[in-house]
Amino acid sequence: MHFTPEETHALGRTMLDWYDRHHRTLPWRAEPGETPDPYHVWLSEIMLQQTTVITVGPYFSAFLGRWPTVTDLANADLDEVLHAWQGLGYYARARNLHKCAQVVARDHNGIFPDTEDGLLSLPGIGPYTAAAVAAIAFNRHTSPVDGNIERVISRLFALTTPLPDVKPDIKEKSAVLTPPDRPGDYAQALMDLGATICTPRNPACGICPWQTPCEGRKIGIAADLPKKRKKPAKPTRVGYAFWVVRDDGQILLRRRPEKGLLGGMYEIPGSDWRVIDAPDDVMLSEAPIKATWQELDGTVGHTFTHFHLEITVLTTRTSTNNPDDINGVWTTIDGLADYALPTLMKKIVRHALTHG
Ligand code: SF4
Repeated sequence: MHFTPEETHALGRTMLDWYDRHHRTLPWRAEPGETPDPYHVWLSEIMLQQTTVITVGPYFSAFLGRWPTVTDLANADLDEVLHAWQGLGYYARARNLHKCAQVVARDHNGIFPDTEDGLLSLPGIGPYTAAAVAAIAFNRHTSPVDGNIERVISRLFALTTPLPDVKPDIKEKSAVLTPPDRPGDYAQALMDLGATICTPRNPACGICPWQTPCEGRKIGIAADLPKKRKKPAKPTRVGYAFWVVRDDGQILLRRRPEKGLLGGMYEIPGSDWRVIDAPDDVMLSEAPIKATWQELDGTVGHTFTHFHLEITVLTTRTSTNNPDDINGVWTTIDGLADYALPTLMKKIVRHALTHG
């Protein structure tokens, strides 16, 4: 499947015309042809990496209300940012968001670099986000490819190689189609088309501006694209969580190490998570205090990107004030709400409170 330069030009124009008439109005967007605030574009792109437009809306407004500029965000306390991020998942992104704001404020005078390379040098900004911000905020001629764009392009060209192998081909074809004058609007047009018309299950080809040239539609395979390579089954890991209740009813929390999964987040203290159940004495040696433990019924299940986790909750009461673990803090049950606890830890809290 190949388009001539004239056809390529026409495809770009058709898409921009469609965008001018049918674009979605989103809180972080400027009107077609206008330049948005790079801080808004960057913030929305980081938030959108892990969740939907509908979920992100209120978070985006709350962040802007609290930290109107990137410098305000840079000056915020990290715990406040993590707390405000609760519900958006993947806290490493929130930590990088804060770090990135500090680099922009400190090293760039509060002004985002306006090139793809400059953006790529900032913490937490990968190739996709750099291309998206460069195109949308600075109208640079670059071609971000998100999941929506991936779907539209693979259908337009009827690309049947499965993901992720097809990615370079999609990127190349998408770059060729990007019109020189409004690359940001063009990228957003494809994002909107993928979100509203060229949807994963039932693409509404009858109202699509590209229905005539679309090869996937013509040969009747559009809804099956892009193809995905089968994923290997996820392993299951197991571990213990130690629910320590002090005599005055307060619960022990601690901060996880900076590096690794849920890095720097507060947790109910736990053992390592292992693929094979370790002997009890190994798991118990990882408890934050020496105590007699009682095992609660049932387990807490949680799925991460690369593995399933099953946590057994052990509980004890103690009169100690000084857990061996120097990062430990005590909190009342009501006070738990003041900590940015990841979803897994919230599940453990719920389990302990209902089964304890
Ligand atoms: Fe997607 Fe259908 Fe449009 Fe092709 S014609 S781009 S499959 S909505």
